[in-house]
Amino acid sequence: MDHFHYRNQKLYCEEIPVSDLAKEYGTPIFIYSYATLVHHLNQLQTAFAEAKPLICYSVKTNGNIHICRVMREHGSGFDVTSGGEMYRALAAGASGESIVYAGVGKTDEEIHFALQNDVFMFNVESEEELHTIGAIAQSLGKVASIALRVNPDLPPKTHVKTDTSVKGVKFGLDIETVLDVARGVVGHPGIAIKGIHLHLGSPILSAEPYRLGCEKAIPIIQSLREQGHPITHLNMGGGFGIHYKKQEALPASAFAEFILPTVKKLNCQLILEPGRFIVGNAGILVSSVLFTKESGGKNYIIQDAAMNDLIRPTLYDSFHRIWTVDLPAGTNLPPQDYEVQNSDTFLQNVVGPVCESGDFLAKDRFLPKVSRGTLLATFSAGAYGMSMSSNYNARRRAAEILVKGDKAILIRRRETYADLIAAEECCNLDGFGE
Ligand SMILES: *Cc1c(COP(=O)(O)O)cnc(C)c1O
Repeated sequence: MDHFHYRNQKLYCEEIPVSDLAKEYGTPIFIYSYATLVHHLNQLQTAFAEAKPLICYSVKTNGNIHICRVMREHGSGFDVTSGGEMYRALAAGASGESIVYAGVGKTDEEIHFALQNDVFMFNVESEEELHTIGAIAQSLGKVASIALRVNPDLPPKTHVKTDTSVKGVKFGLDIETVLDVARGVVGHPGIAIKGIHLHLGSPILSAEPYRLGCEKAIPIIQSLREQGHPITHLNMGGGFGIHYKKQEALPASAFAEFILPTVKKLNCQLILEPGRFIVGNAGILVSSVLFTKESGGKNYIIQDAAMNDLIRPTLYDSFHRIWTVDLPAGTNLPPQDYEVQNSDTFLQNVVGPVCESGDFLAKDRFLPKVSRGTLLATFSAGAYGMSMSSNYNARRRAAEILVKGDKAILIRRRETYADLIAAEECCNLDGFGE
């Protein structure tokens, strides 16, 4: 479910024609729907209501401070993976008690920063990290609340680059060693082990991995309690998949079906860290066609968005639906199935201006004929789009707009050329002499 719809041959975001926004603010541009964001957060809140979960929106998915503010205003906490993300969450008005902090490589500076802001819980990924956090907490006269991140050693479930719960990845503590690590800190004055954390990977299109994860969580929590750790929290992470291609994703209730009974059985508070599920389908990337050409028997659409704006196709071979924003007379709505050719489509490659052959948004895709200036919408671009963007090729990062009903607000201005060199203007090279 989202609020991007074609009406009278035009794509709308809620009540505003997307082409009006592109005309006013230029392209490439990310356009987000407020109603879609809130709808997906509500879906999770409703599906898991029985457990009164602490839902912690994953800041890395889309950290725009205004999106974080919308999340906070609708009852979400935050999952962060760096000091910078913690800063974003705090700047959005979050209290430390609504923030959980994961990541394999927390620096001392970041640990201090999180403790000084009363972070709710650290998700700890190694024994050395656990002792470091304990020592820093002690030096500050604090007790750090900890969830041990467990690698539950499950079968592969998603793209190899984003599968975080198979044996041998860098994440978490091996399931065989968790109990030994926990035993070593019983009674530690700077550490309170309060839970375990399992983020399985992303995106996940089946509930089965969550069932298996829950199954493995139960005996670990029982053993930790026997060791004397008063376990109160089970954090099942994020990873819930969304519609990228067709209608392939599960509703939140499908995941709740397996997670809720475990939470009840363990008498724990549930923490979830959803990102993609909330913001993925709430955003599109709009671009303008610059040129079309044929090369080596292939048809190319060269448009002004590139791998620096949306790297998922390049990085993960991800599929994003793409279609024209306006539908000229005689062209059709986007197909239910992009693998099927229809009367006005032919195979084309959608590429950007960046100097890499890997710079593409879609390969061998049935699309209608376009020409200079045609606006294209790349759908499901709200998650891991802007947050993974870069200035590669000295491209200015795109603007972002949030739409609510018939109102639109620019929530991040397009970068300027001056922005590109601002951080480098901290010095000159006079110190080298002649
Ligand atoms: C990336 C990440 C998430 C969010 O994943 P989604 O698939 O966007 O829901 C949650 N928790 C951790 C620890 C993560 O690394």
